[in-house]
Amino acid sequence: MNAEIIAVGSELLLGQIANTNAQFLSQQLAEMGTDVYRHRVVGDNASRLLDEIKEAETRADLVILTGGLGPTKDDLTKETIAQHLQLELVSHGPSLQAIEQFFVSANRVMTENNRKQALVLNGSDVFINHHGMAPGMLVTHNQTVFVLLPGPPREMKPMFQNDVVPKLLTIFGGGKPVRSRVLRFFGIGEAELESRIEELIDAQHNPTIAPLASDGEVMLRLSAKHENKKEAISMLDHTEQLINDVVGEYVYGKNDETLLLKAVSLLKEQQKTIAVAESLTAGLFASQIASVPGAGSTLLGGVVCYTNKVKHHLVGVPQDILDTHGAVSEACAIELASRIRTRLKSDIGISFTGVAGPEPLEGQPPGTVWIGLSFSDREPFAISLKLTGERNYNRIRTVKHGFFQLIR
Ligand code: ATP
Ligand code: MG
Repeated sequence: MNAEIIAVGSELLLGQIANTNAQFLSQQLAEMGTDVYRHRVVGDNASRLLDEIKEAETRADLVILTGGLGPTKDDLTKETIAQHLQLELVSHGPSLQAIEQFFVSANRVMTENNRKQALVLNGSDVFINHHGMAPGMLVTHNQTVFVLLPGPPREMKPMFQNDVVPKLLTIFGGGKPVRSRVLRFFGIGEAELESRIEELIDAQHNPTIAPLASDGEVMLRLSAKHENKKEAISMLDHTEQLINDVVGEYVYGKNDETLLLKAVSLLKEQQKTIAVAESLTAGLFASQIASVPGAGSTLLGGVVCYTNKVKHHLVGVPQDILDTHGAVSEACAIELASRIRTRLKSDIGISFTGVAGPEPLEGQPPGTVWIGLSFSDREPFAISLKLTGERNYNRIRTVKHGFFQLIR
């Protein structure tokens, strides 16, 4: 069976919010083994919504609509479906009671348009909204199942999982579920990765291999379809092995293991402490580490040494290093990392110095970056980067390279 998702709401078309409902529903449907063929987005406009509904029903076994179930004039979804399927809207007793109860307990006056929220398609299965007011509905028409869900994700998600999924399973039965695994890469571009595993991608069928890229990280999503969970997992293991044979050296993590999480968990595991001296990143690195719960056992602290004065006076970089080599230099990066480490008595010192852009600095082009690393048991060193993005992209990329250095 196949499904289409129609998200209703002008705010989606205006770009004010992202269509996370479709993302969530697609993931859920994939797990159920349902193929999703299309996502559509339409504004709060009855005639354009009607066009979408008519088109979708000619193709799909299941059409899920989200949004537009609320009490205001621009909420048109159920009215439009009612008109199209020639169904009456009737008041749903339990929903009306729940809405009245909500106003009593909130000590607010219920207005007439709130009553409208309890109107449902005659003959439909109704799902009471336990996290809001507008109920959801399921109705079958000419072999197509329509599901109407509220727009707010915190109302839509539990309703879908708790009420709609069981209902869909009784209607359609379970298909073959899809299990996915994401392999995460660093230090290799998307194009190069694709060309290195071209043969595997060309031969893919089940599991499928899909490249994804974001913020300079590249990922591969492997998806296996099989009714047996163990079998699906062993199919994924096999494909992962084939990929590792070719580009395994660039793989740093799986699924939700970001560079940040990987770096922090490694530091914690090894019981290592870290101190930072941040010039172009100005605290971004430390702040990201601090975003991970329990980071306090590993991050001692550091200095935002944006100017040479601070590099010299607060971190202790000798003036002649700054005068001879400049702040954007291997020597300065090593001094920053080593001196912050000894000052704060940490196991690791890390430093970031460079040109974020857009203007050159010390005669060096934007994107020139040095990352210094100092250890209690090894020689310090620095690596250089030549980044090509705009200012804040360069700063984010720099921080990621910092995490990558910690997990090497
Ligand atoms: P309400 O009773 O809140 O009016 P509704 O069912 O009428 O609910 P909408 O008015 O379409 O839904 O949307 C309400 C809010 O829900 C939106 O402002 C937005 O924050 C969120 N929302 C709606 N559709 C989506 C979507 N596709 N993805 C993510 N969020 C959404
Ligand atoms: Mg609304």
